Amino acid sequence: MSEEDREVRERARRFVDEELIPLEVETELSGGRLSEDVREKHHRMAMDLGLWAMNMPKELGGGGFPMFRQVLVSEQIGRVTNGLGWCIHTPPAWAPEVVTKEQLERWIVPTIRGERQECYAITEEGAGSDVDAIEATVRRDGDGYVLNGRKWHVTSFSTADYVFFQGKVAEGPNAGSHAMLFVDTDTPGLRVVREPAYTHTLVDTHSELAFEDVRVPAANLIGQEGDGLGFVYAWFRYERLMIAARCCGAAERLVDEATAFAQERVQFGRPIIENQAIAHMLADSLTELWAARLMTYELAKNIDRGVDLKVQHAQCSMVKLYASEMANRVADRAVQIFGGRGYMRENVAERFWRELRVERIWEGTSEIQRNIVADQLAKRGTRTLTG
Ligand SMILES: Cc1cc2nc3c(=O)[nH]c(=O)nc-3n(C[C@H](O)[C@H](O)[C@H](O)COP(=O)(O)OP(=O)(O)OC[C@H]3O[C@@H](n4cnc5c(N)ncnc54)[C@H](O)[C@@H]3O)c2cc1C
Repeated sequence: MSEEDREVRERARRFVDEELIPLEVETELSGGRLSEDVREKHHRMAMDLGLWAMNMPKELGGGGFPMFRQVLVSEQIGRVTNGLGWCIHTPPAWAPEVVTKEQLERWIVPTIRGERQECYAITEEGAGSDVDAIEATVRRDGDGYVLNGRKWHVTSFSTADYVFFQGKVAEGPNAGSHAMLFVDTDTPGLRVVREPAYTHTLVDTHSELAFEDVRVPAANLIGQEGDGLGFVYAWFRYERLMIAARCCGAAERLVDEATAFAQERVQFGRPIIENQAIAHMLADSLTELWAARLMTYELAKNIDRGVDLKVQHAQCSMVKLYASEMANRVADRAVQIFGGRGYMRENVAERFWRELRVERIWEGTSEIQRNIVADQLAKRGTRTLTG
């Protein structure tokens, strides 16, 4: 870790400790609502601290952080509950290389400046793990495209002003292939069907959306017809690594908080940490956290070293699988150590215990990560994937 890495990590840590963690309970108890003033303040601070768009190229106004440094920041974001850390936004890093100059200026650069925000509409009722089963359609019509389909779980639609829409080309030589397009949220024909309640308490919603004859110019197509799935995979790889980093941060916070509690909570005349049953839960949690952190750091450095993309793909699945399962085990133990207090919403262990559950589901479930890892193992062997 270089001096600059350390400095950036501490900058992010201070922001999380001093500004975000103190708001957790209030956010939880108000159903995830935060005043516009507070949201705006966090947004400004993330920008002033140089953490907003840390993943985007410097020449476009981003932070230009290497992957390792991004992981260090994401770990800190993971230490806070209720999605409060999401104010440190990372726009789509895969985009600058594939979008047109006009798309760059209209959507990507304003996102880096913090003036616009994106969300992804890929999942459908019949297409979750099996992304290729999507039925949304992209039909060429004159100088534009007409989009139709229903999308589920669209995270942050409530705060976004444009959507990455994924559909299948309806006609022509590329029929049946995937296409991805920019769609502004105020485009006629796009509407919210419902905003269901989820297990966690976040500011951001996960909307169900209907696209009904949504007409966009052909210039909104990203790359070529047929390129769409490649962009989704690039997004998945990045998010899987960042999920691993956030899970390490969450586990660190949980181990710290549960250890402090176990040292001060006295039952039967002595601190509960003096019971081996409690001490061993902490020891297992710390050990698993260290393993996950080493994997996460090593993969980030591999990416900075330019390791083969297929190897990256498998390693992103491995860290996401291991770190998300690890963090859930740690959260469950932390609830147990806090006892009845661990079941109260004002307790950090209770909130993480609910919130971390989704890390085993989104961006590919644990089962799908195992399928990817096993497939790559058969193709490439142990040495390539773990050497
Ligand atoms: C809070 C939240 C936010 C989300 N945000 C977004 C978003 O912003 N944009 C977006 O497009 N999507 C989003 N998603 C969708 C998410 O990516 C999917 O939920 C996830 O990929 C799983 O799909 P599914 O829910 O349809 O489950 P399914 O695919 O129906 O899977 C159900 C179960 O079957 C298992 N299973 C399926 N196939 C296999 C297999 N081949 N082998 C073994 N087991 C299998 C799964 O592991 C799972 O346990 C979000 C989901 C949630 C919960």
